[in-house]
Amino acid sequence: MKKIRIIETAFRDAHQSLMATRMRTRDMLPIAEEMDKVGYFSLESWGGATFDTCIRYLNEDPWERLRQLKDIVTKTPLQMLLRGQNLVGYKHYPDDIVRKFVEKSYENGIDVFRIFDALNDIRNMEMAIKVAKEQDAHVQVTISYTVSPYHTLETFVEFAQNLEELGCDSVAVKDMAGLISPYDTYDLIKALKEETNLMVNLHCHCTSGMTPMSYYTACEAGVDLLDTAISPLSWGASQPPTESMVAALQNTPYDTGLDLKLLKEIKEYFEEIRKKYSSLIDPISEKIDTDVLIYQIPGGMLSNFVSQLKNQNALDRYEDVLKEVPRVRKDLGYPPLVTPTSQIVGIQAVMNVLNGERYGNVTKEVKDYIKGFYGRPPAPINEEVAYKIIGDEERITVRPADLLEPQLEKCRREAEEKGIVKKEEDVLTYALYPQVAVKFLRGEIEEEELKPPEEASSREEPAGLPTEYAVDVDGEVFDVKITPVGYMEIEPTPGKVPRGNVEGAVNTTMQGMILKLKVNRGDQVNEGDVVAVLEAMKMENDVYASQSGTVEQIYVDEGDTVDAGDVLMVIK
Ligand code: MN
Repeated sequence: MKKIRIIETAFRDAHQSLMATRMRTRDMLPIAEEMDKVGYFSLESWGGATFDTCIRYLNEDPWERLRQLKDIVTKTPLQMLLRGQNLVGYKHYPDDIVRKFVEKSYENGIDVFRIFDALNDIRNMEMAIKVAKEQDAHVQVTISYTVSPYHTLETFVEFAQNLEELGCDSVAVKDMAGLISPYDTYDLIKALKEETNLMVNLHCHCTSGMTPMSYYTACEAGVDLLDTAISPLSWGASQPPTESMVAALQNTPYDTGLDLKLLKEIKEYFEEIRKKYSSLIDPISEKIDTDVLIYQIPGGMLSNFVSQLKNQNALDRYEDVLKEVPRVRKDLGYPPLVTPTSQIVGIQAVMNVLNGERYGNVTKEVKDYIKGFYGRPPAPINEEVAYKIIGDEERITVRPADLLEPQLEKCRREAEEKGIVKKEEDVLTYALYPQVAVKFLRGEIEEEELKPPEEASSREEPAGLPTEYAVDVDGEVFDVKITPVGYMEIEPTPGKVPRGNVEGAVNTTMQGMILKLKVNRGDQVNEGDVVAVLEAMKMENDVYASQSGTVEQIYVDEGDTVDAGDVLMVIK
Protein backbone atom coordinates (compact mmCIF):
# COMPACT_ATOMS: atom_id res chain seq x y z
CA MET A 1 0.00 0.00 0.00
CA LYS A 2 1.37 3.37 -1.03
CA LYS A 3 1.91 5.63 1.94
CA ILE A 4 2.33 9.34 1.41
CA ARG A 5 4.70 11.05 3.80
CA ILE A 6 4.38 14.62 4.99
CA ILE A 7 6.96 17.36 5.34
CA GLU A 8 5.73 19.97 7.84
CA THR A 9 6.82 23.50 6.93
CA ALA A 10 5.66 25.38 10.07
CA PHE A 11 9.18 26.28 11.18
CA ARG A 12 10.41 27.54 7.78
CA ASP A 13 8.32 28.12 4.69
CA ALA A 14 4.96 28.65 6.40
CA HIS A 15 6.13 31.57 8.50
CA GLN A 16 8.35 32.82 5.68
CA SER A 17 5.28 32.92 3.44
CA LEU A 18 2.83 34.43 5.93
CA MET A 19 4.72 36.18 8.72
CA ALA A 20 7.79 37.64 7.06
CA THR A 21 9.97 34.81 8.43
CA ARG A 22 9.76 36.32 11.89
CA MET A 23 8.92 33.35 14.11
CA ARG A 24 11.26 33.28 17.09
CA THR A 25 13.07 30.17 18.30
CA ARG A 26 11.38 30.53 21.68
CA ASP A 27 8.03 30.10 19.90
CA MET A 28 9.22 26.90 18.20
CA LEU A 29 10.84 25.05 21.08
CA PRO A 30 7.75 24.53 23.31
CA ILE A 31 5.94 22.53 20.60
CA ALA A 32 8.94 20.79 19.07
CA GLU A 33 8.66 17.69 21.24
CA GLU A 34 5.01 17.18 20.28
CA MET A 35 5.86 17.62 16.63
CA ASP A 36 8.59 15.04 16.93
CA LYS A 37 5.93 12.48 17.89
CA VAL A 38 3.81 12.94 14.76
CA GLY A 39 5.84 10.88 12.32
CA TYR A 40 6.51 13.45 9.62
CA PHE A 41 9.04 12.58 6.96
CA SER A 42 10.88 15.71 8.10
CA LEU A 43 10.41 19.09 9.70
CA GLU A 44 11.48 21.89 7.42
CA SER A 45 12.99 24.25 9.92
CA TRP A 46 16.04 26.08 8.61
CA GLY A 47 17.55 27.84 5.62
CA GLY A 48 15.75 29.93 3.02
CA ALA A 49 15.24 33.39 4.50
CA THR A 50 15.42 32.29 8.15
CA PHE A 51 19.16 32.81 8.43
CA ASP A 52 19.07 36.39 7.18
CA THR A 53 16.03 37.28 9.31
CA CYS A 54 17.54 35.82 12.49
CA ILE A 55 20.59 38.05 12.41
CA ARG A 56 18.97 41.11 10.80
CA TYR A 57 15.76 41.46 12.80
CA LEU A 58 15.58 38.96 15.65
CA ASN A 59 19.02 39.16 17.28
CA GLU A 60 19.09 35.38 17.17
CA ASP A 61 21.92 33.13 16.18
CA PRO A 62 20.59 30.85 13.42
CA TRP A 63 23.14 28.16 14.32
CA GLU A 64 21.93 28.23 17.91
CA ARG A 65 18.32 27.83 16.72
CA LEU A 66 19.29 24.74 14.78
CA ARG A 67 21.13 23.19 17.73
CA GLN A 68 18.27 23.90 20.13
CA LEU A 69 15.73 22.31 17.79
CA LYS A 70 18.00 19.33 17.28
CA ASP A 71 18.26 18.80 21.04
CA ILE A 72 14.49 18.38 21.24
CA VAL A 73 13.67 16.83 17.87
CA THR A 74 15.47 13.53 18.18
CA LYS A 75 13.42 11.27 15.91
CA THR A 76 12.25 13.43 13.00
CA PRO A 77 14.84 14.54 10.44
CA LEU A 78 15.37 18.30 10.25
CA GLN A 79 15.27 19.74 6.75
CA MET A 80 16.68 22.93 5.31
CA LEU A 81 16.26 24.88 2.08
CA LEU A 82 19.59 25.67 0.45
CA ARG A 83 19.84 28.01 -2.53
CA GLY A 84 22.61 25.99 -4.20
CA GLN A 85 25.75 28.06 -4.63
CA ASN A 86 23.85 30.99 -3.02
CA LEU A 87 23.50 29.01 0.24
CA VAL A 88 21.17 31.18 2.33
CA GLY A 89 22.23 34.42 0.66
CA TYR A 90 21.55 36.11 -2.65
CA LYS A 91 24.76 35.65 -4.62
CA HIS A 92 27.20 32.91 -5.47
CA TYR A 93 29.77 32.04 -2.86
CA PRO A 94 33.06 30.33 -3.63
CA ASP A 95 33.27 26.56 -3.28
CA ASP A 96 35.26 26.63 -0.04
CA ILE A 97 32.49 28.58 1.67
CA VAL A 98 29.79 26.30 0.22
CA ARG A 99 31.70 23.29 1.49
CA LYS A 100 32.16 24.64 5.00
CA PHE A 101 28.55 25.85 5.21
CA VAL A 102 27.09 22.49 4.22
CA GLU A 103 29.44 20.64 6.59
CA LYS A 104 28.53 22.91 9.49
CA SER A 105 24.80 22.71 8.70
CA TYR A 106 25.01 18.95 8.89
CA GLU A 107 27.12 19.02 12.01
CA ASN A 108 24.63 21.30 13.76
CA GLY A 109 21.65 19.14 12.93
CA ILE A 110 20.43 19.23 9.32
CA ASP A 111 19.50 15.76 8.02
CA VAL A 112 17.76 16.64 4.76
CA PHE A 113 19.16 19.21 2.34
CA ARG A 114 16.71 20.56 -0.23
CA ILE A 115 18.94 22.17 -2.84
CA PHE A 116 17.72 24.38 -5.66
CA ASP A 117 18.94 26.87 -8.21
CA ALA A 118 16.73 29.64 -9.55
CA LEU A 119 17.81 28.93 -13.13
CA ASN A 120 17.81 25.14 -12.76
CA ASP A 121 21.49 25.32 -13.66
CA ILE A 122 22.96 22.10 -12.35
CA ARG A 123 26.40 23.67 -12.11
CA ASN A 124 25.12 25.92 -9.33
CA MET A 125 23.92 22.92 -7.35
CA GLU A 126 26.63 20.30 -7.80
CA MET A 127 29.03 21.47 -5.09
CA ALA A 128 26.36 21.59 -2.40
CA ILE A 129 25.04 18.20 -3.53
CA LYS A 130 28.52 16.68 -3.42
CA VAL A 131 29.31 17.91 0.09
CA ALA A 132 25.87 17.00 1.45
CA LYS A 133 26.36 13.50 0.00
CA GLU A 134 29.74 13.25 1.69
CA GLN A 135 28.04 13.93 5.04
CA ASP A 136 25.66 11.04 4.35
CA ALA A 137 22.71 13.39 4.55
CA HIS A 138 19.50 12.91 2.58
CA VAL A 139 20.04 15.00 -0.52
CA GLN A 140 16.93 16.33 -2.14
CA VAL A 141 17.37 18.11 -5.44
CA THR A 142 14.80 20.54 -6.72
CA ILE A 143 13.13 21.51 -9.94
CA SER A 144 12.23 25.21 -9.77
CA TYR A 145 8.89 24.97 -11.53
CA THR A 146 7.74 27.58 -13.99
CA VAL A 147 5.67 27.86 -17.11
CA SER A 148 7.24 28.91 -20.41
CA PRO A 149 7.65 27.62 -23.96
CA TYR A 150 11.06 26.27 -22.91
CA HIS A 151 9.90 24.47 -19.79
CA THR A 152 8.41 21.22 -21.00
CA LEU A 153 7.83 17.85 -19.42
CA GLU A 154 10.88 16.62 -21.31
CA THR A 155 13.22 19.37 -20.08
CA PHE A 156 12.09 18.89 -16.47
CA VAL A 157 12.55 15.12 -16.65
CA GLU A 158 15.94 15.45 -18.29
CA PHE A 159 17.01 17.87 -15.57
CA ALA A 160 15.90 15.40 -12.89
CA GLN A 161 17.78 12.59 -14.60
CA ASN A 162 20.96 14.67 -14.72
CA LEU A 163 20.54 15.41 -11.02
CA GLU A 164 19.95 11.75 -10.26
CA GLU A 165 23.34 10.95 -11.74
CA LEU A 166 24.88 13.06 -9.00
CA GLY A 167 23.67 10.52 -6.49
CA CYS A 168 20.82 12.29 -4.74
CA ASP A 169 17.95 10.65 -2.86
CA SER A 170 14.81 12.53 -3.86
CA VAL A 171 13.58 15.24 -6.17
CA ALA A 172 11.19 18.05 -5.25
CA VAL A 173 9.00 19.99 -7.64
CA LYS A 174 9.14 23.49 -6.18
CA ASP A 175 6.16 25.51 -7.33
CA MET A 176 6.67 28.91 -5.74
CA ALA A 177 3.46 30.54 -6.93
CA GLY A 178 1.11 27.57 -7.04
CA LEU A 179 1.13 27.69 -10.83
CA ILE A 180 1.04 23.99 -11.53
CA SER A 181 -2.39 22.76 -12.59
CA PRO A 182 -3.77 19.41 -11.42
CA TYR A 183 -3.28 17.64 -14.76
CA ASP A 184 0.18 19.10 -15.33
CA THR A 185 1.02 17.87 -11.85
CA TYR A 186 -0.20 14.41 -12.72
CA ASP A 187 1.88 14.28 -15.89
CA LEU A 188 5.04 15.67 -14.31
CA ILE A 189 4.95 13.52 -11.18
CA LYS A 190 4.15 10.42 -13.21
CA ALA A 191 6.98 11.13 -15.64
CA LEU A 192 9.44 11.69 -12.78
CA LYS A 193 8.35 8.43 -11.15
CA GLU A 194 8.69 6.53 -14.41
CA GLU A 195 11.90 8.09 -15.70
CA THR A 196 13.91 8.26 -12.47
CA ASN A 197 14.40 6.08 -9.41
CA LEU A 198 14.12 9.03 -7.06
CA MET A 199 11.53 9.62 -4.37
CA VAL A 200 9.33 12.45 -5.64
CA ASN A 201 8.18 15.38 -3.50
CA LEU A 202 5.68 18.09 -4.40
CA HIS A 203 6.10 21.51 -2.81
CA CYS A 204 3.47 24.10 -3.71
CA HIS A 205 2.09 27.33 -2.33
CA CYS A 206 -1.67 27.84 -2.31
CA THR A 207 -1.55 31.24 -4.02
CA SER A 208 -3.53 30.34 -7.14
CA GLY A 209 -6.10 28.21 -5.29
CA MET A 210 -5.40 25.07 -7.35
CA THR A 211 -2.92 23.46 -5.01
CA PRO A 212 -5.06 20.99 -3.01
CA MET A 213 -6.33 19.58 -6.32
CA SER A 214 -2.78 19.31 -7.60
CA TYR A 215 -1.74 17.55 -4.41
CA TYR A 216 -4.47 15.00 -4.99
CA THR A 217 -3.51 14.29 -8.60
CA ALA A 218 0.10 14.05 -7.40
CA CYS A 219 -1.01 11.24 -5.08
CA GLU A 220 -2.68 9.50 -7.99
CA ALA A 221 0.50 9.85 -10.03
CA GLY A 222 2.57 8.21 -7.33
CA VAL A 223 4.11 11.10 -5.38
CA ASP A 224 6.02 10.04 -2.26
CA LEU A 225 6.24 13.27 -0.26
CA LEU A 226 3.99 16.31 0.15
CA ASP A 227 4.78 19.61 1.87
CA THR A 228 2.04 20.93 4.14
CA ALA A 229 1.69 23.43 6.96
CA ILE A 230 -0.27 23.00 10.18
CA SER A 231 -3.62 24.70 9.51
CA PRO A 232 -3.16 28.02 11.38
CA LEU A 233 -0.08 28.64 9.20
CA SER A 234 -1.54 27.34 5.96
CA TRP A 235 -3.40 28.61 2.85
CA GLY A 236 -2.81 31.86 1.02
CA ALA A 237 0.86 32.22 0.18
CA SER A 238 1.68 29.18 2.34
CA GLN A 239 1.22 25.42 1.90
CA PRO A 240 -2.05 23.43 2.12
CA PRO A 241 -3.15 22.52 5.67
CA THR A 242 -1.58 19.39 7.10
CA GLU A 243 -4.71 18.16 8.88
CA SER A 244 -6.89 18.56 5.77
CA MET A 245 -4.48 16.56 3.63
CA VAL A 246 -4.18 13.88 6.30
CA ALA A 247 -7.98 13.65 6.59
CA ALA A 248 -8.54 13.70 2.83
CA LEU A 249 -6.16 10.80 2.31
CA GLN A 250 -7.33 8.68 5.26
CA ASN A 251 -8.53 5.20 4.29
CA THR A 252 -7.32 5.64 0.73
CA PRO A 253 -4.29 4.01 -0.86
CA TYR A 254 -2.46 7.27 -0.05
CA ASP A 255 -3.11 7.32 3.71
CA THR A 256 -0.40 9.27 5.57
CA GLY A 257 -0.97 7.37 8.78
CA LEU A 258 -0.70 10.56 10.84
CA ASP A 259 -2.84 11.01 13.96
CA LEU A 260 -5.38 13.82 13.66
CA LYS A 261 -5.76 14.06 17.45
CA LEU A 262 -2.09 14.75 17.91
CA LEU A 263 -2.20 17.27 15.08
CA LYS A 264 -5.08 19.02 16.84
CA GLU A 265 -2.88 19.70 19.86
CA ILE A 266 -0.20 21.13 17.61
CA LYS A 267 -2.78 23.17 15.76
CA GLU A 268 -4.01 24.72 19.02
CA TYR A 269 -0.50 25.80 19.87
CA PHE A 270 -0.02 27.45 16.47
CA GLU A 271 -3.35 29.24 16.70
CA GLU A 272 -1.87 31.23 19.54
CA ILE A 273 1.33 31.77 17.58
CA ARG A 274 -0.64 33.10 14.65
CA LYS A 275 -2.40 35.59 16.95
CA LYS A 276 0.89 36.66 18.44
CA TYR A 277 2.32 37.43 15.01
CA SER A 278 -0.86 38.84 13.50
CA SER A 279 0.62 42.32 13.03
CA LEU A 280 3.11 40.82 10.57
CA ILE A 281 0.58 38.99 8.45
CA ASP A 282 0.00 40.92 5.27
CA PRO A 283 -3.65 40.53 4.20
CA ILE A 284 -2.38 39.92 0.65
CA SER A 285 -0.49 36.82 1.73
CA GLU A 286 -3.61 35.36 3.37
CA LYS A 287 -5.66 35.51 0.20
CA ILE A 288 -5.96 33.40 -2.89
CA ASP A 289 -4.68 35.51 -5.75
CA THR A 290 -5.73 34.25 -9.16
CA ASP A 291 -3.73 36.98 -10.91
CA VAL A 292 -0.74 34.65 -10.62
CA LEU A 293 -2.40 32.46 -13.21
CA ILE A 294 -2.28 35.24 -15.75
CA TYR A 295 0.99 36.95 -14.92
CA GLN A 296 2.82 33.98 -13.38
CA ILE A 297 4.07 36.24 -10.66
CA PRO A 298 4.50 34.83 -7.15
CA GLY A 299 2.19 36.42 -4.58
CA GLY A 300 5.02 38.00 -2.64
CA MET A 301 6.05 39.95 -5.69
CA LEU A 302 2.58 41.37 -6.27
CA SER A 303 2.43 43.00 -2.87
CA ASN A 304 5.95 44.23 -3.40
CA PHE A 305 4.86 46.02 -6.58
CA VAL A 306 1.98 47.72 -4.80
CA SER A 307 4.33 49.08 -2.15
CA GLN A 308 7.01 50.15 -4.61
CA LEU A 309 4.52 51.95 -6.81
CA LYS A 310 2.84 53.64 -3.85
CA ASN A 311 6.29 54.87 -2.83
CA GLN A 312 6.70 56.46 -6.23
CA ASN A 313 3.16 57.77 -6.18
CA ALA A 314 2.52 55.71 -9.29
CA LEU A 315 0.01 53.10 -8.22
CA ASP A 316 -1.88 53.77 -11.46
CA ARG A 317 0.98 52.00 -13.26
CA TYR A 318 0.33 48.71 -11.42
CA GLU A 319 -1.26 46.97 -14.43
CA ASP A 320 1.59 48.20 -16.63
CA VAL A 321 4.11 46.63 -14.28
CA LEU A 322 2.21 43.34 -14.24
CA LYS A 323 2.28 43.32 -18.03
CA GLU A 324 5.96 44.25 -18.06
CA VAL A 325 7.07 41.35 -15.86
CA PRO A 326 6.43 38.62 -18.47
CA ARG A 327 8.18 40.78 -21.08
CA VAL A 328 11.28 41.19 -18.91
CA ARG A 329 11.18 37.52 -18.07
CA LYS A 330 11.04 36.62 -21.75
CA ASP A 331 13.87 39.05 -22.57
CA LEU A 332 15.99 37.38 -19.89
CA GLY A 333 15.35 33.85 -21.15
CA TYR A 334 12.40 32.81 -18.98
CA PRO A 335 14.02 32.39 -15.57
CA PRO A 336 11.70 30.79 -12.97
CA LEU A 337 10.70 33.54 -10.55
CA VAL A 338 12.25 32.56 -7.23
CA THR A 339 14.97 34.18 -5.11
CA PRO A 340 17.02 35.83 -6.52
CA THR A 341 15.56 35.99 -10.05
CA SER A 342 12.15 37.13 -8.78
CA GLN A 343 13.78 40.26 -7.36
CA ILE A 344 15.96 40.80 -10.43
CA VAL A 345 13.04 40.58 -12.85
CA GLY A 346 10.56 42.40 -10.60
CA ILE A 347 12.67 45.43 -9.86
CA GLN A 348 13.68 45.75 -13.52
CA ALA A 349 10.04 45.64 -14.57
CA VAL A 350 9.22 48.47 -12.17
CA MET A 351 12.18 50.50 -13.44
CA ASN A 352 11.19 49.90 -17.07
CA VAL A 353 7.68 51.19 -16.45
CA LEU A 354 8.57 54.16 -14.30
CA ASN A 355 11.50 55.31 -16.43
CA GLY A 356 9.48 55.37 -19.60
CA GLU A 357 12.42 53.84 -21.40
CA ARG A 358 12.79 50.08 -21.20
CA TYR A 359 16.22 49.19 -19.81
CA GLY A 360 17.18 52.86 -19.70
CA ASN A 361 18.27 52.20 -16.15
CA VAL A 362 19.31 48.75 -14.94
CA THR A 363 20.46 47.23 -11.67
CA LYS A 364 23.88 45.66 -11.22
CA GLU A 365 22.12 42.31 -10.87
CA VAL A 366 20.57 42.51 -14.34
CA LYS A 367 23.97 43.31 -15.83
CA ASP A 368 25.56 40.39 -14.00
CA TYR A 369 22.71 38.14 -15.03
CA ILE A 370 23.21 38.97 -18.69
CA LYS A 371 26.95 38.46 -18.36
CA GLY A 372 26.24 34.93 -17.16
CA PHE A 373 27.25 35.33 -13.54
CA TYR A 374 24.04 33.76 -12.28
CA GLY A 375 24.36 30.79 -14.60
CA ARG A 376 22.77 29.66 -17.81
CA PRO A 377 19.28 31.06 -18.46
CA PRO A 378 16.71 28.45 -19.50
CA ALA A 379 16.26 30.09 -22.91
CA PRO A 380 18.30 32.51 -25.04
CA ILE A 381 18.40 36.12 -23.83
CA ASN A 382 16.98 38.79 -26.15
CA GLU A 383 20.18 39.95 -27.86
CA GLU A 384 18.96 43.45 -28.60
CA VAL A 385 18.21 43.98 -24.92
CA ALA A 386 21.51 42.40 -23.88
CA TYR A 387 23.45 44.72 -26.18
CA LYS A 388 21.63 47.76 -24.90
CA ILE A 389 22.53 46.83 -21.33
CA ILE A 390 26.10 45.55 -21.50
CA GLY A 391 27.22 46.43 -25.04
CA ASP A 392 30.36 44.50 -25.92
CA GLU A 393 31.26 43.62 -22.36
CA GLU A 394 32.47 40.08 -21.95
CA ARG A 395 30.08 37.30 -21.04
CA ILE A 396 30.98 34.06 -19.34
CA THR A 397 29.86 30.56 -20.21
CA VAL A 398 31.79 28.69 -17.53
CA ARG A 399 30.35 27.60 -14.21
CA PRO A 400 30.10 30.95 -12.41
CA ALA A 401 31.65 29.73 -9.15
CA ASP A 402 34.77 28.60 -11.05
CA LEU A 403 35.66 32.28 -11.33
CA LEU A 404 35.51 32.85 -7.59
CA GLU A 405 38.71 32.66 -5.55
CA PRO A 406 38.59 30.77 -2.26
CA GLN A 407 37.46 33.20 0.43
CA LEU A 408 37.04 31.32 3.68
CA GLU A 409 40.49 32.05 5.10
CA LYS A 410 40.30 35.69 4.05
CA CYS A 411 36.91 35.98 5.77
CA ARG A 412 38.32 34.27 8.85
CA ARG A 413 41.20 36.73 9.08
CA GLU A 414 38.92 39.71 8.60
CA ALA A 415 36.41 38.46 11.14
CA GLU A 416 39.15 37.69 13.65
CA GLU A 417 40.63 41.15 13.19
CA LYS A 418 37.21 42.57 13.98
CA GLY A 419 37.10 40.40 17.09
CA ILE A 420 33.77 38.79 16.28
CA VAL A 421 34.72 35.12 16.06
CA LYS A 422 33.70 33.03 19.04
CA LYS A 423 33.04 29.85 17.09
CA GLU A 424 33.75 28.49 13.64
CA GLU A 425 30.17 29.20 12.49
CA ASP A 426 30.67 32.93 13.11
CA VAL A 427 33.15 32.97 10.23
CA LEU A 428 30.41 31.64 7.94
CA THR A 429 27.85 34.12 9.22
CA TYR A 430 30.37 36.85 8.43
CA ALA A 431 31.20 35.41 5.00
CA LEU A 432 27.52 35.39 4.04
CA TYR A 433 26.38 38.72 5.48
CA PRO A 434 29.49 40.81 6.13
CA GLN A 435 27.75 44.02 7.19
CA VAL A 436 24.86 42.61 9.20
CA ALA A 437 27.02 39.87 10.75
CA VAL A 438 29.44 42.38 12.26
CA LYS A 439 26.60 44.24 13.95
CA PHE A 440 24.93 41.02 15.03
CA LEU A 441 28.06 39.37 16.39
CA ARG A 442 28.97 42.55 18.26
CA GLY A 443 25.56 42.48 19.90
CA GLU A 444 24.39 45.66 18.20
CA ILE A 445 21.21 44.21 16.68
CA GLU A 446 18.10 44.72 18.75
CA GLU A 447 15.25 42.29 18.52
CA GLU A 448 12.47 43.82 16.48
CA GLU A 449 9.39 44.52 18.56
CA LEU A 450 6.27 42.53 17.94
CA LYS A 451 3.07 44.56 18.08
CA PRO A 452 0.45 43.02 20.37
CA PRO A 453 -2.51 41.55 18.47
CA GLU A 454 -5.01 44.16 19.78
CA GLU A 455 -2.92 46.97 18.41
CA ALA A 456 -2.50 45.20 15.12
CA SER A 457 -6.20 44.58 14.63
CA SER A 458 -7.18 48.14 15.44
CA ARG A 459 -4.48 49.75 13.33
CA GLU A 460 -5.74 52.73 11.44
CA GLU A 461 -4.68 54.31 8.24
CA PRO A 462 -2.62 57.33 9.11
CA ALA A 463 -3.92 60.66 7.90
CA GLY A 464 -2.53 61.78 4.57
CA LEU A 465 -0.12 59.75 2.49
CA PRO A 466 1.70 57.14 4.57
CA THR A 467 5.47 57.32 4.46
CA GLU A 468 6.35 53.94 5.90
CA TYR A 469 5.70 50.69 4.14
CA ALA A 470 6.47 47.08 4.72
CA VAL A 471 7.66 45.81 1.35
CA ASP A 472 7.29 42.11 0.88
CA VAL A 473 9.89 40.44 -1.32
CA ASP A 474 9.26 36.74 -1.72
CA GLY A 475 7.81 36.46 1.73
CA GLU A 476 10.40 38.61 3.46
CA VAL A 477 9.25 41.97 4.66
CA PHE A 478 11.52 44.96 4.37
CA ASP A 479 10.57 48.12 6.18
CA VAL A 480 10.83 50.97 3.77
CA LYS A 481 10.40 54.63 4.59
CA ILE A 482 9.84 57.14 1.87
CA THR A 483 10.27 60.86 1.92
CA PRO A 484 8.23 63.10 -0.31
CA VAL A 485 10.49 65.25 -2.46
CA GLY A 486 9.80 68.62 -0.96
CA TYR A 487 11.67 71.87 -0.99
CA MET A 488 12.69 72.39 2.60
CA GLU A 489 16.05 73.94 3.14
CA ILE A 490 18.06 72.17 5.76
CA GLU A 491 21.51 73.18 6.86
CA PRO A 492 23.71 70.12 6.99
CA THR A 493 25.02 69.47 10.49
CA PRO A 494 28.44 67.84 10.43
CA GLY A 495 28.31 64.27 11.65
CA LYS A 496 24.57 63.99 11.23
CA VAL A 497 22.89 62.83 8.05
CA PRO A 498 20.82 65.72 6.77
CA ARG A 499 17.61 65.28 4.86
CA GLY A 500 15.66 67.13 2.25
CA ASN A 501 17.02 69.35 -0.47
CA VAL A 502 20.53 70.53 0.16
CA GLU A 503 22.44 72.19 -2.65
CA GLY A 504 24.73 69.71 -4.39
CA ALA A 505 23.35 66.87 -2.32
CA VAL A 506 23.38 63.26 -3.35
CA ASN A 507 20.17 61.82 -1.88
CA THR A 508 18.96 58.29 -1.54
CA THR A 509 15.64 57.31 -3.02
CA MET A 510 15.18 54.18 -0.94
CA GLN A 511 15.83 53.03 2.56
CA GLY A 512 18.75 50.65 2.66
CA MET A 513 22.30 50.07 3.72
CA ILE A 514 25.43 51.69 2.32
CA LEU A 515 27.38 48.80 0.92
CA LYS A 516 30.21 50.77 -0.61
CA LEU A 517 31.45 54.31 -0.81
CA LYS A 518 33.27 54.82 -4.07
CA VAL A 519 34.64 58.30 -3.35
CA ASN A 520 36.51 60.12 -0.61
CA ARG A 521 36.26 63.71 0.55
CA GLY A 522 38.05 65.96 -1.88
CA ASP A 523 37.60 63.65 -4.88
CA GLN A 524 36.63 65.15 -8.21
CA VAL A 525 33.54 63.56 -9.72
CA ASN A 526 31.50 63.98 -12.86
CA GLU A 527 27.75 64.08 -12.95
CA GLY A 528 26.48 60.52 -13.27
CA ASP A 529 29.53 58.86 -11.71
CA VAL A 530 28.75 56.08 -9.29
CA VAL A 531 29.61 57.48 -5.86
CA ALA A 532 28.11 54.80 -3.64
CA VAL A 533 26.34 51.47 -3.71
CA LEU A 534 23.15 51.12 -1.71
CA GLU A 535 21.69 47.76 -0.82
CA ALA A 536 17.92 47.95 -0.74
CA MET A 537 15.56 45.00 -0.86
CA LYS A 538 18.48 42.63 -1.52
CA MET A 539 19.47 44.51 -4.68
CA GLU A 540 22.56 46.60 -5.15
CA ASN A 541 21.67 50.02 -6.48
CA ASP A 542 24.23 52.45 -7.77
CA VAL A 543 23.96 55.98 -6.41
CA TYR A 544 25.05 58.60 -8.92
CA ALA A 545 26.69 62.01 -8.53
CA SER A 546 24.01 64.66 -8.91
CA GLN A 547 26.45 67.12 -10.49
CA SER A 548 30.11 67.51 -11.36
CA GLY A 549 32.46 68.95 -8.77
CA THR A 550 34.36 68.14 -5.61
CA VAL A 551 33.07 65.87 -2.88
CA GLU A 552 32.88 68.38 -0.05
CA GLN A 553 31.28 66.34 2.68
CA ILE A 554 30.36 62.67 3.22
CA TYR A 555 27.82 61.94 5.92
CA VAL A 556 27.74 58.18 5.90
CA ASP A 557 30.03 55.21 6.37
CA GLU A 558 29.90 51.82 4.76
CA GLY A 559 27.46 49.67 6.70
CA ASP A 560 25.26 52.63 7.72
CA THR A 561 21.52 52.34 7.35
CA VAL A 562 19.92 55.26 5.58
CA ASP A 563 16.37 56.41 5.01
CA ALA A 564 14.92 57.53 1.71
CA GLY A 565 15.79 61.16 1.19
CA ASP A 566 18.92 61.14 3.34
CA VAL A 567 21.80 63.19 2.03
CA LEU A 568 24.77 60.90 1.60
CA MET A 569 27.22 63.53 0.49
CA VAL A 570 27.49 66.99 -0.91
CA ILE A 571 29.23 67.87 -4.16
CA LYS A 572 30.20 71.48 -4.75
MN1 MN B 1 8.27 27.46 -0.87
